[in-house]
Amino acid sequence: MAIRLFNTYSRALEEFRPLDPAGREVKMYTCGPTVYSHAHIGNFRAYLFEDLLQRHLESRGFEVRRVMNITDVDDKTIRGSREAGVPLAEFTASFKKAFFEDLDTLRIKRADSFPEATDPREIAKMIEMIGTLMERGLAYQAEDKSVYFRINKFPDYGKLAHFNLEELRSTGRVKSDEYDKEHIGDFALWKAWDEADGPVKWESPWGEGRPGWHIECSAMATQLLGDQLDIHCGGVDNIFPHHEAEIAQTEGCTGKKFVRYWMHCAHLMVDGQKMAKSLGNFYTLRDVIAKGYSGPEVRYALMRVHYRAPLNFTWEGMEEARAAIARVDDWRRRLGDVAREAPSSELATASPSGGGLQAPKKSQVASSNEEFQSELDEDLNISGALGVLFETIRETNRRIDAREMGAEEATAWLKWWERVDQVLRIGGEQMQIPAEIAKLAEARAQARLAKDWRKSDELRDELAARGWEARDTKDGQKITRRGGT
Ligand code: AMP
Ligand code: ZN
Repeated sequence: MAIRLFNTYSRALEEFRPLDPAGREVKMYTCGPTVYSHAHIGNFRAYLFEDLLQRHLESRGFEVRRVMNITDVDDKTIRGSREAGVPLAEFTASFKKAFFEDLDTLRIKRADSFPEATDPREIAKMIEMIGTLMERGLAYQAEDKSVYFRINKFPDYGKLAHFNLEELRSTGRVKSDEYDKEHIGDFALWKAWDEADGPVKWESPWGEGRPGWHIECSAMATQLLGDQLDIHCGGVDNIFPHHEAEIAQTEGCTGKKFVRYWMHCAHLMVDGQKMAKSLGNFYTLRDVIAKGYSGPEVRYALMRVHYRAPLNFTWEGMEEARAAIARVDDWRRRLGDVAREAPSSELATASPSGGGLQAPKKSQVASSNEEFQSELDEDLNISGALGVLFETIRETNRRIDAREMGAEEATAWLKWWERVDQVLRIGGEQMQIPAEIAKLAEARAQARLAKDWRKSDELRDELAARGWEARDTKDGQKITRRGGT
């Protein structure tokens, strides 16, 4: 089954074929966080789309080798450390730690490596690459002692973002302190030290300074994955200048095509505007969790819309995510109950159709699996894939209600779900019921034993007000998050 991905470079859907002659290994690079504050959930939309991509490729048998960089030196991190009055490394350490905790909360698979820009090995690679670009006439040192990439010397510059150099010339984005660049679009490879940088500096053949942001990614990507990558991802705001610059620098050094498939996700929006630190319209993951939502609920909310479509963040959207996950968890519990239930013969006699149980629908399970995967094959069509999931839930719930399903079939569906959830990762682990909820539930169970129906109803309302639902089944009371069926 062919996988097709939308390549920003060609602006077309292309069949995915990795460089590996065996067709198995996939080299993937994803631009990571700048650790000057907590990442906001817009950033996590990008990381979640990348996680979905990796997990789907793996479910199709590819071996993904992924690198995500950590930008721990740039204008923002330096400014932050200066304002906090602590050394740069100390300033960024707490945000690095928080970032990894957030990845875990959202169940984002760890990349194989998370190189840090300030690692001496990476700095050495950046300096080596800048040296090569200088030798080839693709870079120059300006009067301000910084080293710039000479975009006029790289004919393909602008191909990723789909504009030409003339347009760039007329954008009027000239800053007065950039007067000594040859072209306003020339970007810094090495920034000469200035006072604002304080103690943050490295030696280089061009004097003390620090790397530009773009060269960090070119160096870390090629250092860890080689000269050529299969997939490079980021948010659409990374296309220009960041990724355009990465192509120019890397291909300028290696002479080889840097990336086969460029993939970019659209923004997470708030009231029609990009969620961004600079606009102040952002929520960190911690803000959303503090409102009582779980990691999987946020994961679902950020992942459920196709990655190339803008997604508006709303609290109603979070409630829908909660309801969707509760529905899945409830369905799994019901399947679990059936899977543990009496032998088929007993159920067969109880079947309202009188015709006994049908044979386990193995072929139906297999076809649902194929359907789910083939939706994702088509440029990660998540809505289609979730459609298959919820249609399956509807139909299998119907069969459970009609007592048409036996233990074997329920077990097969549970296995199907496990495979699906290797990609989605939204299923509740063992649902944790908070102590105070468990206490209320226990009190309600006691009230029912005592046939105190009024108290039982009051406690049900109390549980509901706290977001939990009490259901009475033949096996006793069951407590679930509200929104489940
Ligand atoms: P930054 O830390 O700003 O370099 O961003 C890290 C990643 O998050 C990049 O891939 C950005 O493109 C992406 N990103 C930033 N803001 C948003 C947003 N509102 N929606 C989606 N992705 C975003
Ligand atoms: Zn990058």
